[in-house]
Amino acid sequence: RGTPPVPPDARPRLTVLSGPSGVGKSTVVAHMRKEHPEVWLSVSATTRKPRPGEQHGVHYFFVTDDEMDKLIANGELLEWAEFAGNRYGTPRAPVLERLEAGVPVLLEIDLQGARQVRESMPEGRLVFLAPPSWEELVRRLTGRGTEPPEVIERRLRVAKTELAAESEFDETLVNTSVEDVARELLALMDVV
Ligand code: 5GP
Repeated sequence: RGTPPVPPDARPRLTVLSGPSGVGKSTVVAHMRKEHPEVWLSVSATTRKPRPGEQHGVHYFFVTDDEMDKLIANGELLEWAEFAGNRYGTPRAPVLERLEAGVPVLLEIDLQGARQVRESMPEGRLVFLAPPSWEELVRRLTGRGTEPPEVIERRLRVAKTELAAESEFDETLVNTSVEDVARELLALMDVV
């Protein structure tokens, strides 16, 4: 009959890692996953086109606009948001299945998505990844130096409002070093 269900109070909580764009969320997550593959990272659906090296089902489920419409209409997403002209969403069923089985689950999503999870799964743990300083975030957002000044200005304006979201979160981790912040995140998740 399969394994017995894990009692509710022994179930790990869902953890959401979010924060301003450019703060380094995906670098932290990639580092953490290398050392701790037992943490299950949700694979999002997106309408964005794959970047070189990205694999369907590994980095994202790359879907068409129609497919995304259906996922949303059928209530198959735990949350979804539009970011930089593309839609991104977290498939609900795999997340619930893992939590039910006692597996720690991590979502790496944008701030709009984190707010939706706070509403739909209030037992979840919302972690805000903050830059070490405003200057450092400016450096990261302007780093490539290839964008026109108005694009960079817009990004910085957005980043200012995104930083203000910190107060909505349960925990804040400051991204001083990838190793430190990955370790702190694991500790919050009770993985180490
Ligand atoms: P990228 O296109 O660079 O992979 O991701 C762009 C942004 O979308 C990042 O801030 C990332 O955290 C966010 N993102 C990725 N997947 C999801 C998702 O399923 N839901 C939401 N709300 N944001 C996501």
